[in-house]
Amino acid sequence: MAKGKAKIPLHLLGELSSENSKWFRAYEKSPKAPTTKSYRTKVERFLRYTKHNQKPFYTFIQDDVINFIEMLEKEGEYRGGGIDPYIGAISKCAEILRDEYPKKFSPFFLADISKLKKNEKSTPSGQALTSTQISYIRKYNTEHAEQDDFYGEYIFEMIFQLGLQLEELQLYQPKDYDREKQCFISAGGEPIPYQISVIDSLLIRFLDSAKDISNKHVDFSSESRKYFKEVTAYLKGKDVYSEGRNINSEYLKQSHTAYFIPCPNCKKETENIEENWVLTKVESSDVYRLYCKTCKGK
Ligand SMILES: [Zn+2]
Repeated sequence: MAKGKAKIPLHLLGELSSENSKWFRAYEKSPKAPTTKSYRTKVERFLRYTKHNQKPFYTFIQDDVINFIEMLEKEGEYRGGGIDPYIGAISKCAEILRDEYPKKFSPFFLADISKLKKNEKSTPSGQALTSTQISYIRKYNTEHAEQDDFYGEYIFEMIFQLGLQLEELQLYQPKDYDREKQCFISAGGEPIPYQISVIDSLLIRFLDSAKDISNKHVDFSSESRKYFKEVTAYLKGKDVYSEGRNINSEYLKQSHTAYFIPCPNCKKETENIEENWVLTKVESSDVYRLYCKTCKGK
């Protein structure tokens, strides 16, 4: 399940008191204050929490932070993420004020709140797709390829089959494909090898049908933005995807990790579908094991 980042419900956000506004500005002006806006916003929101927004900042105690965390957990759409960054931001702010305004902020002022962190795992930027989602995506890709729009299928299969980063995809230009050697030839003349026959058949189909592609440098970063947006809308239309964000290359990379298994003999990573594998026994053994169909364990 996607992790929700804790948010303060709007009705619990009041005004900054003039006293706290002064301390917030002092913190913001410090050269030690983080430059990231989201850090500052977190401190500001913490100070605007209606349960304590009228209380002078230098009188805050650890319980105020604990109450704030409890509110985020109970009312802030909390699903395991977003509280630690608040604690980190408040802790850094307290440290700055203790150092720079020791007459107002005691050495103990919120000095130990880091231990309140929940050790949340950071939200992954993508996760493996389900088998249903993959089959719908392939259906979408085929429909588009039939109308000579191959980019989606290419982007999907290259990342899914090879587990590439989106940036690496730029190196795998269809125009650089060498049919005889069955590899890509880099700008420097070096071969870029890979071992997946799905890619060969895809490229041959691609190059034979879309003539203009054979001498064109494709900007996969803008093509993939368009593709991921459309394919996400398609999956939503089929009711098999409900997350707020679009699918991205990380989803395909994670899917590669989830659905590709190395063959124990030739080590080649192969998709875990029936047509790719055989159960066979090797000499001197009665045990049947899975091997890829290419090497069959030999
Ligand atoms: Zn094998």
